[in-house]
Amino acid sequence: MARVLLISTYEQGHQPLSIAAPAAALTAAGHKVSAFDLAVESVSSDRLHAASVAADLIGISTPMHTAARLGIRIARQLTGMSDKVVFYGHAASSLHDLGLGRAISGDTDLQLVGLAGGEDASHVPLFDRELRPVPNRSILPPLEQYARYRDVSGGSHVAGYVEATRGCAHRCTHCPLTPIYAGRLRLNGADTVLADIDQQVLAGAEHITFGDPDFLNAPGLAMDLLRETSGQHPGTTFDTTIKVEHLIEHQELLPEMAELGVTFITSAFESIDDRLLEILDKGHTADDLDLVLQHTERAGIALRPTWLPFTPWTTPAHFRDLLRFVETRKLVDVTPPVQLGLRLLVPSDSPLVDPMREMGSLTTYDRDGLTWNWRHEDARMDDLQGEIAGLAERQATFAQIKDAACRRLEVEPWPDVAAPHVHRPGLTEDWFC
Ligand code: SF4
Repeated sequence: MARVLLISTYEQGHQPLSIAAPAAALTAAGHKVSAFDLAVESVSSDRLHAASVAADLIGISTPMHTAARLGIRIARQLTGMSDKVVFYGHAASSLHDLGLGRAISGDTDLQLVGLAGGEDASHVPLFDRELRPVPNRSILPPLEQYARYRDVSGGSHVAGYVEATRGCAHRCTHCPLTPIYAGRLRLNGADTVLADIDQQVLAGAEHITFGDPDFLNAPGLAMDLLRETSGQHPGTTFDTTIKVEHLIEHQELLPEMAELGVTFITSAFESIDDRLLEILDKGHTADDLDLVLQHTERAGIALRPTWLPFTPWTTPAHFRDLLRFVETRKLVDVTPPVQLGLRLLVPSDSPLVDPMREMGSLTTYDRDGLTWNWRHEDARMDDLQGEIAGLAERQATFAQIKDAACRRLEVEPWPDVAAPHVHRPGLTEDWFC
């Protein structure tokens, strides 16, 4: 039996499934698991050090870029323990040559079980089709300590989080899943997911986030889970992430989803520039954005688009048009300022490295930042991105961002569009990738 310490630094505001799922697999294999969720727990360096010394294996969860950067800081505190540190998760692949520990990606639960049992690790992503035990949430802080769900009247509710699938059937070129999964999708098993929902409802959850990269990658499973949960736990609400292409392809499902309790959907709009959407291989066009806004509105589901506003391909005109789109479609209240200052991340294994190198925009690789640095051919765009990121940190309003963009890009401000005074459902924490 090995003693395994699992550490999460950030999981977008929800109780970390990236701890609960491997904890269950490790416990089922006879190992002893403890965990820290540093996003909500205050853990002194002495306590972290003592727990790490006592562990045979230290897993640092890196499900996305922000968590990986925070994970590096934690690993640097564990001096002399790199031989038992393992980074695991989607963003781990960039970490294997930092000398801070091993790194595994893909379906990592069973790889962690292997490591705890003394097997070697490979940093090449591994996949399996085995069903998992029900995640062990008892070793984590209670759901009350995590992001809550806000309903249309502003009421606040405890929220839970599950994933019905692993990986993604698509290959968007900017997505960290693409180099790992390359279009592969694995189902987590309906019984396991339903049991995980049950235990979170029992723990007080009134809202469940289906955090799958794309909920309609497996529409049959998705609808079965919604129907079953809605029957078992009437009144529970849900949110999901669904790509534009699927919202169009499966538009007939939206009214039933709303009836079953789906109150909002997050969708990666990314850009209103068709050329960029093609480079990113998003499978949708700018015209599709209005279509899905109409479909979801008709179904009574709030849509929360996400954006990728700064890339080497984004022209000043495209950025201006993106702001106009947000304003004219009355999306300002569902667009956190931080979204408008985001800059394309380019991990070392990104499919965008070669085209960006060819166009001369890549500069140096930032080992700690885990991304290639790049510059726009129009220096005003880089300056504007820096200014908007700074404004977002200071909780600036949309109007301030619009002013900054018009000033830097020397364009006439367009007339303000009055927004409706409504409260749209959402979670209390804006997340970062
Ligand atoms: S659909 Fe979403 S999760 Fe899937 S590859 Fe594209 S960006 Fe990534």
